[in-house]
Amino acid sequence: MPDNIVDRLVEIFRRFPGIGPRQARRFVYHLLHEGRGSIDRFVADLRALHTAVTQCEQCFRFYSANTNYRSGHTCDLCSDSSRDNSLLMIVEKDADLEAIRQSGTYQGSFFVLGGLIPILEKDPRSKLRLPELNATITKRLSEKSLVEVIVALAVNPEGDHTIEILKQTLEPWTKKGLRLTVLGRGLSTGTELEYSDADTIKNALENRS
Ligand SMILES: [Zn+2]
Repeated sequence: MPDNIVDRLVEIFRRFPGIGPRQARRFVYHLLHEGRGSIDRFVADLRALHTAVTQCEQCFRFYSANTNYRSGHTCDLCSDSSRDNSLLMIVEKDADLEAIRQSGTYQGSFFVLGGLIPILEKDPRSKLRLPELNATITKRLSEKSLVEVIVALAVNPEGDHTIEILKQTLEPWTKKGLRLTVLGRGLSTGTELEYSDADTIKNALENRS
C-alpha cells in the first residue's frame, strides 16, 4: 500500500468495475473538492453499508434490510406473492437484475449467479452459485411451482460459455420437462444487460428460445 493517502485512495477506486487509474485519481480529487459535510455523510454511508444492506437468501441480490416488507431473510421481490413463481430468471449480477426489474417487462422471480464462467476455467461447476442454483431449482420443483428457467446473460464469449455450462448443469431437469430458455439475441454482441433499455429487454424476453 502506498504511504501517500491520495495514492492509497486511488488504489481503492481502481479496484471498482470499469475504473482505470486516471478515473480513480479524478475521484480522489473530486472528494477533495467536496465539502467536509459531504465526505462525512459518504463515510457514514460506507460504514453502514454492511449492516443496512443484506443479501437475500433466495435470489442472492443485495437489498435494504431496514424496510417494512422484510420477512425472514428474503428480499421484497422474493416475498412478493404477486410475482410469477413459475418463471426463474438467471442473471449475472445485481445491476442486471435491477435493469430488468425497472424495465417492467418481467414479473417472474430471479436468481443472481454472481459472475460469468471464464472459458479456460478447469472446474466450472464449483464456480459461482451453481450449487445454490441447484438447491433453488430442486426446492422450487418440489413445490411444483417452477415451469421455466430463463437465462439472461451478457452477449459475449464468457456469457455464451456460461450458458453452455448452465445447460449441462440443468440437463437432468430439462430432460424431465423443465423449460430452459435463453434471452433472444435482439441484444447485440457485447451488450451488457445493465445498460439495455426497456424496449431492448422486452424484445429479448419475447424472443427467448
Ligand atoms: Zn430475493
